[in-house]
Amino acid sequence: PVRVRFAPSPTGGLHIGGVRTALYNYLLAKQTGGTFIIRIEDTDQTRYVEGAEEYIIEALRWVGIEADESPEKGGKHAPYRQSERKAIYQEYVKKLIENGSAYYAFDTEEELEAMRQRLEAAKAKSTSYNMVSRMQMKNSLTLPADEVERRLQNGEPYVIRLKVPAKQTIRFKDLIRGWVAVESATLDDKVLLKSDGMPTYHLANVVDDHLMEITHVIRGEEWLPSAPFHVLLYQMFGWEHPEFAHLPLILKPDLKDAKGKIIQENHGKLSKRDAEAMGFPIFPLTWQGSIGYREAGYLPEAIINFLALLGWNPGTNQEIFSMQELIQLFSVERIGKSGSKFEIEKAKWFNQQYLRMKSGKELLKYLTEGLQKAGIDYAKYNEDQLISICEVMKERATFPDDIWREARYFFEKPAVYDENVIKQKWNEQTAEVIASLKEKFSQESDFTGEKAKEALHQEAEKRGLKMGQVMPVLRVTLTGVGAGPDLASIMQILGKNEVVERLENALK
Ligand code: GLU
Repeated sequence: PVRVRFAPSPTGGLHIGGVRTALYNYLLAKQTGGTFIIRIEDTDQTRYVEGAEEYIIEALRWVGIEADESPEKGGKHAPYRQSERKAIYQEYVKKLIENGSAYYAFDTEEELEAMRQRLEAAKAKSTSYNMVSRMQMKNSLTLPADEVERRLQNGEPYVIRLKVPAKQTIRFKDLIRGWVAVESATLDDKVLLKSDGMPTYHLANVVDDHLMEITHVIRGEEWLPSAPFHVLLYQMFGWEHPEFAHLPLILKPDLKDAKGKIIQENHGKLSKRDAEAMGFPIFPLTWQGSIGYREAGYLPEAIINFLALLGWNPGTNQEIFSMQELIQLFSVERIGKSGSKFEIEKAKWFNQQYLRMKSGKELLKYLTEGLQKAGIDYAKYNEDQLISICEVMKERATFPDDIWREARYFFEKPAVYDENVIKQKWNEQTAEVIASLKEKFSQESDFTGEKAKEALHQEAEKRGLKMGQVMPVLRVTLTGVGAGPDLASIMQILGKNEVVERLENALK
C-alpha cells in the first residue's frame, strides 16, 4: 500500500509550490487507496516560526487536502512532529556509530571556520568537511579511542557526522528523471546529529521515512542534491529506500506588457520576491501581511486545478479537472522533467471557469456580503431577483467580488454615463428611440425583458438605424456603462418602473 508524506518545515508561510507538492502526494495516495501523512520537520529550532504549522494545516485544508495521519490526527507512527522524536534519532544514529558509518567530531565553530578559510585559500573545489580535511580535524576518525572516550565523558560538545565512503558511485532511480549517479567523493561528511542533540534534516528525514513506512518520496527538485545522502543512509542502516520523485521547479513567469507581449524572458525559480514584484500572491492564505490566494478571491477548486497542471499533464486536451478526476487520472509518469512557468493569467482563467460553474444561489452570499460592506441597499430585490443578478453577472467575473462591483447599477441609478458611448452614439435619432421606448414601456401592462428588447428592434428598424447604433445607447442609459450582460436580462431584473425612470433621467 502506498504511503506518502508531505514534510514541511514550519519556517514560515507555505508557498504555493508547497501546496503543489502536497497535492501530488495526496493524489497518489487517494488514487491507490493509500495513506497521506503530514509530518512536521521542526528540528531546526533557529528557523522555527510560531504559527507556521497551524498555517500549513489550514492552508491545505482550504484547498481540500486532509491528512490521514498528522500531528493533529495522530496515527500508528505518532508523534508526527520531529521535535518530539528526538530520542528516536539519537537511538538510530548510535547504530551508525556502531557499524562505522558515522563518527563523533569535536571541532569548535572557530576551528571549522579556519578549515573553511584554509580550503578556500587553497582554492579547493569543495570547502566541506571532506575526505582530506577530516583527517586534519578533531574527530573520532583521527583521535585515539581513549581520547574520544575522555572527551565524551567530559561532556565536550560534539556533533555526529556521516562517514561518506571514499570511492563509491551512488546510484538511484528517480521516477521523473530516471537514473541519477553521484560520486561519493563530491559529497560532504554531513552532520547528522547537532551539538544540541537535535538531528539534522538528513537523519530525521531518513529515519522517519523508514519508520513511517513511506513508499514514495515526492518532493521538490531543490531536494535532489540531498537524495544521494539519503540513499547512503538507507544503505548504512541496511534499509531499502523508498521510490524517489523530484518535482520540476516552478519558474517565475516572463515579464509581459499589457498586450501580453514578452518584454523579458525569465528562467529562475519563482520566489516570494518575484511574485510580489509581479503583483500576485505566493501564499495560499494571507500570511504576515502578504495577501493570500484565498483573500484575493481565488476559489480552492481553481487553485487545485491550476497547480495540478503546473508540472503534470493529462495527455489530452482536457483542462478542467475536479479533485475526484485528478485522483483518478493522476500519474507520476506524466509529470514533466523541465520546470513550468507560473502564469497567473492561467490561474485567473481557472477561477473564471469555476466561478461560472457555480449556481446563482451559490454565489448569492458574495453579492450580498459585498453590497453590505459597500453600504449599498439591496432591499428592493427579493432573493430570486438577487440570484438572477448573480446568474447574469457571473459570466463576466473573474473573482467573486467582481459580481457585486459590476452589478452596482442594479442597485443605484447611473450617476454618470460612459462618455465614449455618448459621444459616438447619442444623437437626435437615438434620443428619439429612447423617448419612444419610454412611452411604450410605461404603457406596457405585462413588461418583460424580452418584450422590451423586441421593442428596441422595432424602433431601430422604423428609423433605419442599426442595432449597433441603438443598443449601446439603451445600455448606457440604463446602466451608465458601455458593456455588460444581455440587455433583456438587465431590463427583466430592473423591472418596468425602474427602466422607465432611468430612460426618463437620461432624457433630461
Ligand atoms: N522538510 C523538508 C521541506 O521543508 C522536507 C523535504 C522532503 O520532502 O524530504 O520541504
